[in-house]
Amino acid sequence: LSNTERRIVENSIRDIKDFPKPGIVFKDITTLLNDREAFGVTMNHLYQKYKEYNLDYIAGIDARGFIFAATLAQMLGIGFVPIRKKGKLPYTTISEKYSLEYGVDEIEVHIDAFSNIPNARVLLMDDLIATGGTANAAARLINQAGASCVEACFIIALDFLDGQKELKKSTEVYSLVEV
Ligand code: AMP
Repeated sequence: LSNTERRIVENSIRDIKDFPKPGIVFKDITTLLNDREAFGVTMNHLYQKYKEYNLDYIAGIDARGFIFAATLAQMLGIGFVPIRKKGKLPYTTISEKYSLEYGVDEIEVHIDAFSNIPNARVLLMDDLIATGGTANAAARLINQAGASCVEACFIIALDFLDGQKELKKSTEVYSLVEV
């Protein structure tokens, strides 16, 4: 990103204090999406970066990851795969648990999601990486489904948490904006 582009993207992300609970600063990307310039700069940048990667699929994480992942997949002319919270996908799934601050959560992917292309090269996408727990579980799912997670991409990285560092042990990581 150029400095001007970075400013456009950063300024379009809205901070919501104490959502969904006290002490959390929620990074709201709806104000990026409804800003044609910021959404355009974001997607064109990602298109230019990933068009040389020879990707076969983009996998997006439920739910904000879907928006960026499906848009980029369409721009690159490749398929989109949803990684969803437990119980949402209708066909046979494989699943991965990951720990939250309190308790565990589970995400799933369809067992045959990547099966049309042998050893498929997959880009994982979400809007934001915090602790990296969700993305790590998603990367494991992609590999378990017989594909290869070649990189994980985020619009925002919360760099005061060690999520990126953890995830870098298992795949390449790219974040547009670090805060
Ligand atoms: P984590 O597994 O801790 O890396 O959390 C990442 C997931 O939680 C992503 O799907 C994000 O959309 C969401 N998330 C976590 N923290 C925030 C935040 N401060 N603002 C917006 N989304 C968040």
